[in-house]
Amino acid sequence: MRDGCNFPRLSPRKLMLRGLPNTDMQYDYDLYVVGAGSGGVRASRIAASYGAKVAIAESTYLGGTCVNVGCVPKKLFVYGSHFQEEFEDASAYGWQVQAEAFDWPTLRDNKTAEIERLNGIYGNLLANAGVDLHEGHAQLQDAHTVIVNGQTYTANNILIATGSWPTVPDFPGSEHAITSNEAFYLPTFPERVVVVGGGYIAVEFAGIFAGLGAHTIQLYRGPLFLRGFDESVRTFVKEEISKKGVDLRLNLNVERIELDGETRRLHLTDGTVVEADLVLYATGRHPKTANLGLENAGVALGERGEILIDDYYRSSVDNIYAIGDVTDNIQLTPVAIEEGMCIANNLFTDRPKRKLDYNNIATAVFCQPNIGTVGLTEAEAVARYAGDLDIYESSFKPMKHTLSGRDERSFMKMIVRRSDDVVLAIHMVGPEAGEIIQGMAVALVAGATKAQFDATVGIHPTAAEELVTLREKTREA
Ligand SMILES: Cc1cc2nc3c(=O)[nH]c(=O)nc-3n(C[C@H](O)[C@H](O)[C@H](O)COP(=O)(O)OP(=O)(O)OC[C@H]3O[C@@H](n4cnc5c(N)ncnc54)[C@H](O)[C@@H]3O)c2cc1C
Repeated sequence: MRDGCNFPRLSPRKLMLRGLPNTDMQYDYDLYVVGAGSGGVRASRIAASYGAKVAIAESTYLGGTCVNVGCVPKKLFVYGSHFQEEFEDASAYGWQVQAEAFDWPTLRDNKTAEIERLNGIYGNLLANAGVDLHEGHAQLQDAHTVIVNGQTYTANNILIATGSWPTVPDFPGSEHAITSNEAFYLPTFPERVVVVGGGYIAVEFAGIFAGLGAHTIQLYRGPLFLRGFDESVRTFVKEEISKKGVDLRLNLNVERIELDGETRRLHLTDGTVVEADLVLYATGRHPKTANLGLENAGVALGERGEILIDDYYRSSVDNIYAIGDVTDNIQLTPVAIEEGMCIANNLFTDRPKRKLDYNNIATAVFCQPNIGTVGLTEAEAVARYAGDLDIYESSFKPMKHTLSGRDERSFMKMIVRRSDDVVLAIHMVGPEAGEIIQGMAVALVAGATKAQFDATVGIHPTAAEELVTLREKTREA
């Protein structure tokens, strides 16, 4: 499997001349990757396709967080949670559909079967690429030696791609809360759920539980959730998810949780008490660097336990690299994958060294309706270009709901630097926002101007055409 990589492999001799792999001589492997998640699998497969001798260790599940307890199962649950609305909206279109009941084990187990299929595919991808897979927990013995299941392997280069892990803060009764990891495998579907947290994972799970029919409260200790997203988006989403049945309670935290039979009784900071069958904490993830033996190799860690790296993913130890969630970079699957591509390129080809450009990385939040975003928030844009910005905003009822009558709105926002007309950001809330913004991200990465957006003929009738017909600026900033 070459993964679309047309770049010629370097011959072992050329690699040796570059002082890179040393396969036949000193070490078992040119590259030893710890963690077969998004970043590790990509780095190892591509490195092998360039001629490197590669092994990868995996302790838990092939495909890592994204495949097993992240992006993929979450998106499947999001799909599942939309059906109730679809059934309701269908009647305005002439369909008489009665949603009888939601069966949680069906969704959960179908999801798990799909994940197991993907685990198998990942195993095949590695095998076909010629990467040796060692199943077990890996630890570093020194800067060139990894131990898995009591067996030692030496490598010229080591890549740490161990990802991150969710944590629940320590407070009385915190043991009665679960994390997103367990949410994917609940034995029964809860009637009453409290989701604690204000990041995208919390917002997505609140939408999933509410959509699947649970009475859902989302608690966030700050004044507004989704920190780091554009302010207009955050405010708009707050309104929309409340319409979808999420009982959003801000400036609130949990003091303690008591267990009463199966009921969790949450005592909140405002003195009120809420009861729930399930409490999901999505308040933070930490780099998975414990029990890795990093101290044996002298790898320096940051305050949160993240591996400190330079621009080219090199740790404080010359031959040890780190990518993905275990570092302090943006925690997204495509980012970890691209970083893996950079590592393979930099270690095993003659091409110019690569590092990822972290600007204009598009992302989506699969709350309901979705968020899609690329580029600077308005606050970031103002911090850099105050007085040189034109802001375009538009809010409208999606066409589908003109018949269904559903009270849902979409929102779009474009931030333009007036002096050179360059589009600095596009933010959207609405159905399929992630799909729309992925295309827009290409335009932003290419440096498109507002005039070029205006010169683009729209596709009618779509929501996306709004982005090429934004004529009147809303304000200057
Ligand atoms: C609920 C949730 C939803 C998400 N949704 C999205 C989304 O929609 N879009 C998106 O882009 N990102 C999403 N993410 C983030 C995304 O999953 C991560 O950014 C991505 O998986 C990071 O990849 P990674 O390679 O750094 O680590 P991981 O994919 O976590 O892989 C690390 C691997 O290392 C293994 N490992 C750890 N320690 C050892 C050891 N000592 N020995 C052997 N193996 C070890 C682990 O078992 C794991 O398989 C989501 C995350 C979560 C939790």
